[in-house]
Amino acid sequence: SQTQAQALLKGLNENQGRAVSYGDGPLLIIAGAGSGKTRVLTYRIAYLLAQKKANPWNILALTFTNKAAAEMRERIQKLIGPPASKLWMGTFHSIFSRILRIEAEKLGFTSSFSIYDSDDSERSVKAIIKEMGLDPREVKPRDIRFRISGAKNQLVSPHEFQEKFVRSSMDDIAGQVFPIYQTRLRQSNAMDFDDLLTLPSELFEQHPEVLEKYQDYFRYLLIDEYQDTNHAQYKVAKMLAAKYENITVVGDDAQSIYSFRGADISNILNFKSDYPNAAQIPLEQNYRSTQAILKCADSIIKQNKHQLDKTLWTQNDKGDPVTLLESFDEYDEANRVAGKLHELKLKRGYTNNDCAILYRTNYQSRVYEDVLRRKGINYQLVGGISFYQRKEIKDVIAYLRLLVNPNDEEALLRVINEPSRGIGDKSLQNLVQFARKQQVTIWDAFEQADQVVSHGPARRSMKAFKAVIDECRDLMTDDETSLVDVTRKLLESTGYVKQFVEENTHESLTRRENVMELINAIAQHEEARPDADLSTFLQEISLYSDTDSYDENQPAVTLMTVHAAKGLEFPVVFVVGLEEELFPIGGRNGEEADFEEERRLFYVAITRAEKDLFFSFAKQRTRFGESKRMARSRFLDEVDPAVVRTETGATIRQKDGFGSSFSSGGYNVEYDRRLAPQNRYQQKTASPAAAPSGGRTRPKPQAPKASYDGVTYDIQSPDDLA
Ligand code: ATP
Ligand code: MG
Repeated sequence: SQTQAQALLKGLNENQGRAVSYGDGPLLIIAGAGSGKTRVLTYRIAYLLAQKKANPWNILALTFTNKAAAEMRERIQKLIGPPASKLWMGTFHSIFSRILRIEAEKLGFTSSFSIYDSDDSERSVKAIIKEMGLDPREVKPRDIRFRISGAKNQLVSPHEFQEKFVRSSMDDIAGQVFPIYQTRLRQSNAMDFDDLLTLPSELFEQHPEVLEKYQDYFRYLLIDEYQDTNHAQYKVAKMLAAKYENITVVGDDAQSIYSFRGADISNILNFKSDYPNAAQIPLEQNYRSTQAILKCADSIIKQNKHQLDKTLWTQNDKGDPVTLLESFDEYDEANRVAGKLHELKLKRGYTNNDCAILYRTNYQSRVYEDVLRRKGINYQLVGGISFYQRKEIKDVIAYLRLLVNPNDEEALLRVINEPSRGIGDKSLQNLVQFARKQQVTIWDAFEQADQVVSHGPARRSMKAFKAVIDECRDLMTDDETSLVDVTRKLLESTGYVKQFVEENTHESLTRRENVMELINAIAQHEEARPDADLSTFLQEISLYSDTDSYDENQPAVTLMTVHAAKGLEFPVVFVVGLEEELFPIGGRNGEEADFEEERRLFYVAITRAEKDLFFSFAKQRTRFGESKRMARSRFLDEVDPAVVRTETGATIRQKDGFGSSFSSGGYNVEYDRRLAPQNRYQQKTASPAAAPSGGRTRPKPQAPKASYDGVTYDIQSPDDLA
């Protein structure tokens, strides 16, 4: 109602209110971190509903993670009540896959199509590489898949790719694999993650009437984190919005951090030329962070050349300066962070779930897990190997995929000998080759196993395997049988679980338990959704992402990558591993690192913090099995020294734009970025005025002390390590 709508505006500042109550037409919000962009989007949806401008199902909101969508839905539910459950909200992938299920036949798929995950895609690419007579150790399937995926995200067809995008011999091979890979997917009635984004635009282009149906259906389109959309996502959004132009996008160019996945910052920068009558409303008040944190963030992001100028201010407290922790190595670093966590809880009354440890790369979590576990500090790891990535779970899921879609070749190849059925490589090869030659699926080739496979036992096993799958498929189509019963029957008749019981090791029994847990998940799915079937279950879990597991109510410290932390906020944030080649990370394959993107990533990390922020680096770190000297991150030299203090309270000082020096813990370290990374650290002996020598003939430094696991060690000088 109108009063409900008016009440919503009370929780907003003036510009936020203008954006929420803005009428029809395109609306753009580019604003800094913590200024309430997501809040505006959430309230705008609630406002549309309160005003009865649209039915919930006529509103489509696209978010960056499933988790973000679920949260937004929950907030709207609180603001406005039950109709929120009918909103279309989710990631591009999940919403588009729902549309593709409905329209599959128009694209030559059936609605039971499979979704290939990146492993499936890579295996398929690998098989093609082998068939081309190439060696997958030289032509890396991952490289080829990366190129194909990049092309798809740009909506480049196999044909165009071969014509226009070949610059190297690897590209050339990718160009040859690409069309075969696409044909295989189609034969398998399968789509990969990229197809979920590209096929909708194919659908809408080929079937204008279908596009119009969805244009009329999704009267209001709202997109969060718009700066990280890629070309395919951009295009479909544009098509959907073309008729009514009720499109609201919010984002921050300074937080664009997915260009390695094809995200294209120009989508947000060109919004106004796409929609000349677009309104733009600025949001300038930050509600999340202290003044010190904002100042720190600002000093970093303004170093980027390609950045829109934005104002951000806050009424929040001034806050404490950022604390810089310096450590000897990664264990020392983790111990120091753990010590701080303890102190924060004791002296400042923080709880574990107030705190997050953010790092640049996933593998950095291991040491933190080690140390936190040993110290008895609860943590939750977001990312890392998820339940659905475990081998036994992937196997069972492959079985279920096969039930739903027997043409799913990757699923079939995954489980045909799992558990071992004595179907040898040779027999399988014969069958696959036959299928390729006849242009039928492997599943269909089973019918002719008699002619193709000469080995008797293998032939019988294939037939038995097919019979089991057929039987379970029959059971599945019977309405009386529950999904759980079908799955149980499947696992029983394939002997999949029995092998674990027979093996009877700790590991095999854990695997069995994991499979049982999957059955629980199926039961829950069946209970939660009236339309539940195996397809809906498989779809849901195939689009489950690592970050979806984050639970802010767990009484635990959060460990996650900076990428995963996008959009989130925590009272206390540790940004760790601030070292050259790590954060900013070095370029891939000898390419120059993208420092502007790394800086944006650092900006994202800083702006997650509400009250207390810590930076940390180690001087030495084990990487790729070797202990390496690390130079502290250039970002620490760029940061406004007025808002950063070392642990002992000293300021960090910066020099002449190249190097910096800071004092802490009773010794001085001189850092000069003009030197090669391994030579950057120089122990200082003279007054701060002494210029870095730049050579290797420095005076022998005094060995500083560092504490590691409670023991004090002498740190070797870089010369000793070299
Ligand atoms: P990011 O760029 O990190 O995604 P954002 O611009 O989306 O940030 P929000 O997450 O929407 O910002 O808001 C940041 C915090 O400020 C949230 O806790 C939000 O609830 C709070 N907030 C925003 N606007 C207001 C307001 N008018 N009154 C009170 N709190 C607000
Ligand atoms: Mg946000």
